[in-house]
Amino acid sequence: MLDLNHPETKYTFAISGQDDAILSIAKRMTLVDTAAKKLLLPRAHEATSKMRQICIAGWGKRQGKLEAIDLLHLQIAELAATPSLNNYVTDWQDKVCTVCQSSITNLENYKDMCYCQKCLELIAGGRHAVNVAFALWCI
Ligand SMILES: [Zn+2]
Repeated sequence: MLDLNHPETKYTFAISGQDDAILSIAKRMTLVDTAAKKLLLPRAHEATSKMRQICIAGWGKRQGKLEAIDLLHLQIAELAATPSLNNYVTDWQDKVCTVCQSSITNLENYKDMCYCQKCLELIAGGRHAVNVAFALWCI
């Protein structure tokens, strides 16, 4: 269970906040074409840079933690670089992803829940590594 008074807790929440931001940007990336993804990449990399700063402030230069962030940083760049003709931000119904031929998923009534689930898996390894390294499942 998470101890709210533990000195590391605020850093764990801060890492989680950046992870949420990256997930949101990555979902958006699965809906747009290559050029638009490249425009989103600096925002994602800003979030991984903040993660690094939070990590160093909270735990120092722990190799395992920094490597997890580096993996996520790399995978989001790979997602951005994958050629895509998608243009599904507003018109996603009955559409199929041009990258992986999967249906575009939407969980209605949730903001930010429209995306290509299969393409999003490109960053699953990095997000899992960050989740484990910073024990994000606790919050
Ligand atoms: Zn896809």
